[in-house]
Amino acid sequence: MIEKIKELLERYSEKNDKYFKLRKEMVEIQLRERGITNEKVLEAFLAVPRHIFVPESRRSFAYDDTPLPLFEGQTISQPYMVALMVELLEPDEKKHILEVGTGSGYQTAILALLSKQVYTVERYESLSEYAKEKLKELSIDNVVFHVGDGSEGWMDFAPYDGIIVSAGAPDVPEPYLEQLNPGGIIVIPIGDRFYQDLVKVIKTEKGIKKEYHGPCVFVPLIGKYGFKD
Ligand code: SAM
Repeated sequence: MIEKIKELLERYSEKNDKYFKLRKEMVEIQLRERGITNEKVLEAFLAVPRHIFVPESRRSFAYDDTPLPLFEGQTISQPYMVALMVELLEPDEKKHILEVGTGSGYQTAILALLSKQVYTVERYESLSEYAKEKLKELSIDNVVFHVGDGSEGWMDFAPYDGIIVSAGAPDVPEPYLEQLNPGGIIVIPIGDRFYQDLVKVIKTEKGIKKEYHGPCVFVPLIGKYGFKD
């Protein structure tokens, strides 16, 4: 998908896109200066036009350092949080990634540019359809969409090399560990309904290793292995 990054950088270049400057500042100030170092990740954030994922009424805030309201009471996460989670996931051109919580599709687009194939699950059909439209607009075609309870993972395409969850869970859902390849990584906010810790889980031959990457605030993961509705 390196070609796709190049294509988007051209299509949404400084010359063609009035939001380019704001996007560049977002990458340099909110991401690089805060410690995001993976150049491919930074490039993907420059290539993906975040404003097209933000509802029209909020578009002028698209590159602000904040989460933004979406539909169905859900949110599009703060750019830095998306970048940190994607960097922790260690995506690359060979990996198959499961994303839980498609939301607007913004993070899905970033993941698609950095991985071989993305499988994304959302509980609201309206959001899944919205995201599908946006990715079509960008001609991104290595994403499979599904509406359902992503707390159960998605058996159909398992095993995955990485699982990224953009909603807060009480613990790591058991099915994720079964659906993950050895050496695979899960990035997931774990805590209560309101506050969580960002956790990176690595599946090793001896079991699992957990790393903690600071506090975060996500909407709850609702489902069998998440919170009750
Ligand atoms: N990463 C998204 C973006 O870039 O727009 C934002 C995701 S939003 C913070 C979290 C999403 O998780 C919401 O769209 C919510 O509906 C979804 N969600 C919550 N529980 C879920 C579940 N069990 N399965 C799938 N999606 C779920």
